[in-house]
Amino acid sequence: MITRFSAAVPSPLARRLGKHLLRTDGQEDCCFVLWRPATGARRTTAVLVDVVLPLEGERIVHGTVDLTSAYFLRSAILAAERGCGVGLIHSHPQGHGWQRLNQVDHDAETSFAAQAFAITDRPLLGMTFAEGDGGHSARSYRPLHAESVRVVGEEFTVTFNSLLLPTPTVTSAQQRSLSAWGQQTQDTLARLHVGVVGTGSVGMLVVEALARTGIGRLTLFDFDTVETVNLDRLLHATSRDARAKRPKVHLAAREARRAATAPAFQVTALEASITEPDGFAVAADCDVLFSCVDRPWPRHVLNQLAYAHLIPVVDGGVSVNARSGSLQGAEWRAHIAAPGRACLECLGQYDSAYVPMERDGLLEDPSYITGLPPSHPMRRKENVFVFSTAAAAAELTQFITMVAAPGGVSDNGAHLYHLATGTLDRRTEGCEPGCPYNTTLLALGDAAPAVTGRHLAAERARNTFRSHFTRLAHRWREPRS
Ligand SMILES: [Zn+2]
Ligand SMILES: [Zn+2]
Repeated sequence: MITRFSAAVPSPLARRLGKHLLRTDGQEDCCFVLWRPATGARRTTAVLVDVVLPLEGERIVHGTVDLTSAYFLRSAILAAERGCGVGLIHSHPQGHGWQRLNQVDHDAETSFAAQAFAITDRPLLGMTFAEGDGGHSARSYRPLHAESVRVVGEEFTVTFNSLLLPTPTVTSAQQRSLSAWGQQTQDTLARLHVGVVGTGSVGMLVVEALARTGIGRLTLFDFDTVETVNLDRLLHATSRDARAKRPKVHLAAREARRAATAPAFQVTALEASITEPDGFAVAADCDVLFSCVDRPWPRHVLNQLAYAHLIPVVDGGVSVNARSGSLQGAEWRAHIAAPGRACLECLGQYDSAYVPMERDGLLEDPSYITGLPPSHPMRRKENVFVFSTAAAAAELTQFITMVAAPGGVSDNGAHLYHLATGTLDRRTEGCEPGCPYNTTLLALGDAAPAVTGRHLAAERARNTFRSHFTRLAHRWREPRS
């Protein structure tokens, strides 16, 4: 059931809004915006699509600001034509952070609410822009107050509604983290809901670091079980876990609980793939997603969440070149998919041509994989612990750079590190021309094409784990001869 509400703004749109709303004369200003719903399992997010700037005479600024009904009707009709809802955003010139709704704001917004619903079939979105720090606040005219508004893209800033998400106290165990990046960043980290997709060698390290750093809420996705061949690269895994065929995600959740420094730490383990509808819905509840998978289908799903749902995806991976039995080189990369930045497909992290093959289960077929050329990314599955730690560190530093913006820089490009030469390539350009992710798919929310389906390998893994335990329980009950 949906009980939580949030809003998200792509950073290029946030800059356009700031330009309009920040006035040199210190007066309040306002404008209408278009938004679409992006729905998860428990949370719906109003993703902002566009701004409808007022034409000459459509609004009058005199200390407070008056809107004409012509401006509202033009905006609401435009919203309906584009399958969007309409929102009203106004500024508080002296405001900092989350803005409470006063009677004047409430009356102004409610005066449009019924008509907005009648025209667009969606509730009116009300937002306040705090000029002091650029923070946004939001509510939906059900009415339902949002818990947060995030601005997502080259930058990443989240304004939290402390009535719904109070600032947790920093514990003495977090003093060093706090001294590195300060109270504001720590408060953001503590209230973010972070998803980690894949808890294999890279993902397990990422989970450990996030729990220790003080992330308050983690959701972990993986359907694989621990095997003996994982032991040389899977943090925390023992031969006992391999014998018990323990799902990796349960191991990750147990160890996250042990490592967590957040006082009211919550972790959820899902034996699911985000390519399955239930997994996708839970992923859509997150504020940031870590991609620690190497398959095309989950990466395709994550790419869509990054642009259509405005949930930044921190992605990375390792590629080892071990021709003729000796190490020729290795590469690891890390980057963030978000509005204005290059998407996972443009970064060459997956080829959408392989998504239908994975959906059909072809990639589970060893004869299909061995039929591919040796240089094919799908065949280069060699990974070792040392390189996984490097890839995990690269993903984590991308994340911290995005949240803490060291020296004011939150996006320092996509990174590719070459082991043999010790060099780092940086890509700062966005998507390739014609790529839909930063254009037609941006902020589409629930209107984006469906990318989930039945995942046979995930279903099989869940059944294997269950039947293994049924067998064990059965053996236990049998009388010994
Ligand atoms: Zn106000
Ligand atoms: Zn792209």
